[in-house]
Amino acid sequence: LFKPVSERGPQQSSAPVKASRTRPEQTKPELAQVVTDAKTGRRYSKGKLLGKGGFARCYEMTDLSSNKMYAVKVIPQSRVSKPHQRDKITNEIELHKTLSHKHVVKFSHYFEDQENIYIFLELCSRKSLAHIWKTRRTLTEPEVRYYLRQIISGLKYLHSKGILHRDLKLGNFFVNENMELRLGDFGLAAKLETVEQRKKTICGTPNYLAPEVLNRQGHGTESDVWSLGCVMYTLLCGNPPFETLDLKETYKCIKEIRYNLPSTLSPAAQKLISGILQKNPSDRLTLDQILSHEFFTKGFTPDKLPPNSCIMIPELHP
Ligand code: ADP
Repeated sequence: LFKPVSERGPQQSSAPVKASRTRPEQTKPELAQVVTDAKTGRRYSKGKLLGKGGFARCYEMTDLSSNKMYAVKVIPQSRVSKPHQRDKITNEIELHKTLSHKHVVKFSHYFEDQENIYIFLELCSRKSLAHIWKTRRTLTEPEVRYYLRQIISGLKYLHSKGILHRDLKLGNFFVNENMELRLGDFGLAAKLETVEQRKKTICGTPNYLAPEVLNRQGHGTESDVWSLGCVMYTLLCGNPPFETLDLKETYKCIKEIRYNLPSTLSPAAQKLISGILQKNPSDRLTLDQILSHEFFTKGFTPDKLPPNSCIMIPELHP
């Protein structure tokens, strides 16, 4: 669906002399077929590439002694040579290690060698809601309730531990073989601080920025709720609520809460979205208020979804 950088071909970017010495990207063994953890002696065989992120490539890997499969984030040492880059990964690992919840991607273990850092995670074979959304574009309200309930469950757990995710977006909602949702990617996550202590800088390029984050008032639990509202909107409407051709214009729309609510949405969905997308964080619905909203209490939520709902509208019955 998207073209990884390596597939654009090496010829375009490098000088001819250099290109002729380097082997083509496709055949270059970037990562050994078997990776060994020197401390435990465990060996892992590399499977298919699951995706690419800012720092990492993520591969399916199998523990050769137990046959257990993992999603492994492989981060080249060269990408974390600067202290602040390494700090970011260390923060992600230290924070993720402490988490244990049904709807949070399970952190297994990690190790490093000369070339890479390897982070072993619970495998979510159906990738993420971003992949499902790209194919489906809009989901039905029962499906959205199904996914949102699981996201909220994972998010309530994080918030109860005083942790903010700070980058809630479709690509960070992973889906496993059984169509169960797991919240993941703690690259921007942070411990909740008091309003005074909050760092007012915007780190990375989070997707669904809340107005108070744009106005440099810092990120609270309510800012995660805002992002959740944007996710709900995107899944139901097929496009993000604040999307223009120009980032500056998008930020202006966010600060003015300027978005359209299509009349095709049920009245309950419209009310819930507008209850979440409130400018003032203290006016925004809380996670518990969202769960007790009529959108959830009056409409039915399936217990499970069929795997083919990744590519087509499912037939769901209460
Ligand atoms: P980064 O933090 O560098 O952005 P990501 O966490 O986004 O890296 O991971 C990159 C890609 O790897 C994602 O787009 C996703 O497709 C895949 N991925 C990450 N974690 C998992 C997982 N637990 N199961 C399956 N695929 C995963």
